Amino acid sequence: MTDLSGQCALVTGGGSGMGAAIARALSEAGATVVISGRRMEPLEAAAAALPGVRAMTADVTDEASVRSLFQRISTEVGELDIVVANAGAAESSPFHRTGLELWRQMLDVNLTSIFLTFQQALTGMRKRGQGRLISIASTAGLKGYPYVSAYSAAKHGVIGLTRSLALELAETGITVNAVCPGFTLTPMLERSIENIMQKTGKSRDEAVAALTAANPQKRFVLPEEVAESVLFLCGPHSGSITGQALSVSGGEI
Ligand code: NAP
Repeated sequence: MTDLSGQCALVTGGGSGMGAAIARALSEAGATVVISGRRMEPLEAAAAALPGVRAMTADVTDEASVRSLFQRISTEVGELDIVVANAGAAESSPFHRTGLELWRQMLDVNLTSIFLTFQQALTGMRKRGQGRLISIASTAGLKGYPYVSAYSAAKHGVIGLTRSLALELAETGITVNAVCPGFTLTPMLERSIENIMQKTGKSRDEAVAALTAANPQKRFVLPEEVAESVLFLCGPHSGSITGQALSVSGGEI
């Protein structure tokens, strides 16, 4: 069992899906956990199910909002040892119909969000000479998929940021890694299934089969499986693992 007693963690997008599973795993390992997101309602519902987990609203695309989240955590909770930049969003669109607005939205919420979150996290971590920075990227950061060029470009950017920042911080006691899930059973995936059904007229089973076909194990990844990978990277013996993009995808890549 990984023991994170006495450590303090932030999970962005922690009110649902993978973020909620990661918050649970960190909390069960003994960490004090803060979850954030834009909507208070899902955050409060997730926090209510996890004793000791605190909920705070913040928009990860907004620099002032991210800064005030970190200030609030520092004042009300403590210095952060672990930051999991999990918040993100996926919109699909053929490239020729991808407007500048959607392009910017995908880069803002999936890539600039990590830049803003890690910059704030580093202020405290650098002073203390320790820390774990983890982003939830995607297999779409390691390979392409049709109709998600903006999302995939953003997630590839996350991997580039991770690899470069890890080298920059290699002698500081801070590790930087990305976890890359394949299609994972969360509200985001549910929306993708609905979208496929709506746009193609496929049944739910057909839409599910189209998505699981990418995974050699022919199933969806579970949020708890992603959470276990995060927990491993946070553990006391993972200090030599940095700059990595860990695929959690049933062998897809
Ligand atoms: P999800 O249930 O939709 O969770 C996304 C979370 O991000 C929500 O809690 C949402 O809360 C938060 N969020 C979105 N925009 C935000 C913003 N501007 N500021 C702050 N929080 C924001 O989806 P999920 O599948 O768990 O996704 C988690 C991460 O995994 C994402 O980065 C996603 O790209 C990645 N991923 C998902 C899959 C998959 O198949 N599900 C596969 C690979 C990677 P609010 O709406 O309240 O802000």
